[in-house]
Amino acid sequence: MGYAGRRVLVAGTGVAGAAAARVLIAAGAEVTVVDRADGPVLAQLRDLGAKTVVGDGVAELTGVTDVVVSPGFPPHHPLATAATAAGLDVYSEPELAWRLRGPDAPQWLAVTGTNGKTTTTTMLAAILAAAGRRTAALGNIGEPLVFATSGYDVLAVELSSQQLHWSSTMAPQAGALLNLADDHLDWHGGFDAYVEAKAAIWRSAPAGGVAVGNLDDPRVAALLSRVEGRRVGFTLGEPGPGQLGVVDGYLVHDGVQLTPIDGIRPPGAHNVANALAAAALARAYGVDAAAVHAGLAGYEPQAHRNAHVATVDGVAYVDDSKATNPHAALAALNAYPRVVWIAGGQLKGVDVADLVAAVADRLVGAVLLGVDRAEIATALARHAPSVPVVEVARADDGAMDDVVRAAAALARPGDTVLLSPAAASRDMFVSYAERGEAFAAAVRTLPTADG
Ligand code: ADP
Repeated sequence: MGYAGRRVLVAGTGVAGAAAARVLIAAGAEVTVVDRADGPVLAQLRDLGAKTVVGDGVAELTGVTDVVVSPGFPPHHPLATAATAAGLDVYSEPELAWRLRGPDAPQWLAVTGTNGKTTTTTMLAAILAAAGRRTAALGNIGEPLVFATSGYDVLAVELSSQQLHWSSTMAPQAGALLNLADDHLDWHGGFDAYVEAKAAIWRSAPAGGVAVGNLDDPRVAALLSRVEGRRVGFTLGEPGPGQLGVVDGYLVHDGVQLTPIDGIRPPGAHNVANALAAAALARAYGVDAAAVHAGLAGYEPQAHRNAHVATVDGVAYVDDSKATNPHAALAALNAYPRVVWIAGGQLKGVDVADLVAAVADRLVGAVLLGVDRAEIATALARHAPSVPVVEVARADDGAMDDVVRAAAALARPGDTVLLSPAAASRDMFVSYAERGEAFAAAVRTLPTADG
C-alpha cells in the first residue's frame, strides 16, 4: 500500500509508535503524532516533519484516514472509539509493517498465546539461524517490525493479543497459538474478545498458510479444529499423523526424530511444549530435522524465565520473575518437586485459588510480597494449611533481601527456591526484569556453607 500523501495519526510514542511514525514520514505520509505528554521523542518526530500534539488526540481525527495505535490503547480508549465510530482504519505497528511489505519482504512465522511467546519465538529464531536463514526474533520483542520489511529471509514474530486485536489483514505464513488463560481481560473487555484476538494468528490458513496449535490446551484444540486450511497440532503426548509430539524421550514430527527432550532448556514440560511449537513453525517453513536439533541444542534461554541463579547449601535458586500470571507460575511450579515459592505483586484481578490448590503438594514453604499478597495468603490457608508462610510487608529497596532470607530459612538441601510471582511487578519494581535482578542480587548476598 502506498502511504505517500496519506494522512495518518500515530497514537503513542513508545518504541513501536515512534518507529511507525518514522517509517511513515519516510514513506511520504502526512503524520500527526499524539501522546499524553511532551518529551524528547515527540520533539525528534517534530524535527522530522510530524505534527505533534499532546492530549488524547480525538480532536486530530478530522481528515485522517489511518490511525496507528500503540498496545497501550485498548478498544475502549476514547481515541479508539472515536476513530472506529468515524469508520477510520485503526491498526497496530505490526499490521503497518505487514502492509509495508514489498516483493522482497521476509516470510513471517508468528507466535502468540498467554504464556511462552518470547521463549518460543527465540527458540524459533535459533532454529531458523541454525538452518542458515537470515532471521531475527521481532515483534513484541526486539526491534519494531516496521524496520524489518527487507534484509531477512524469514522472521520469528512474537505477537501480543493487543497487536493482533488491532490487525485486519496481517496474515503470517504460519502462526502458532500456544495456550489460552486469563490475562489482559480488562484490556479486551472479556475472555471471548481475548480469544478472538488471539485466533487472528491463523488468518492465512484458508489461503494456504499453516495453523499451529497446542492440542493439550482444550480451548486451543477446539479453536484449531474449526480452522479451515492446513492445521498442525502439537502435544506432549504421542502425536497423530502430521502432528508433533513426544515419543521415547524425543520430539518427533511425522515419525521423524527431531531432538531429545532432556536437552531442552529452560527445564519444565512447558518449555518442551514451547520447543514443539517452534519446531512446528520451522518445519512448516521447510526446515530439516538436523537444524531443529541444532537450534534447540544451542538455544540460550532468556533471562528471568526459569533461570537458575545459584545453588547455595544444596538449595537451587530459580528466577522466573517473568511469570506475571497464575498460568505461567503453574508451569514453573510443576517443573520442580519441592518448592519454596516466592509470590505476590499485582494480581490484576485474576484469581489464584486454583493455582494454589493445584501446586499445594509441591510447596514446602511460601514467602509472599507485594500489594496483593493477602489474597495468596488466604488461598494458601485454605488449600495448603500445613505450608509455612512468611509475609514480607516491606516494599522498599531492601524488601527482596528479606524475602530471600526468609525463603532460605524455609528450604532444605534438594529444595528449589522459586521466584514465580503469578503477579505483575509494578507495585514494587520498574519491571519484571528489575524484580528478577533484585532476587538474583539478594541470592548472591546469602552466606554460603563455606563462607
Ligand atoms: P510471554 O512472552 O508469553 O510472556 P515467556 O516466554 O516470556 O512468555 O514466559 C513467561 C513465563 O511464562 C515464564 O516465566 C514461564 O513461567 C511461563 N511459561 C513459559 N512458557 C509457558 C507455557 N508454554 N505455558 C505456560 N507457562 C509458560
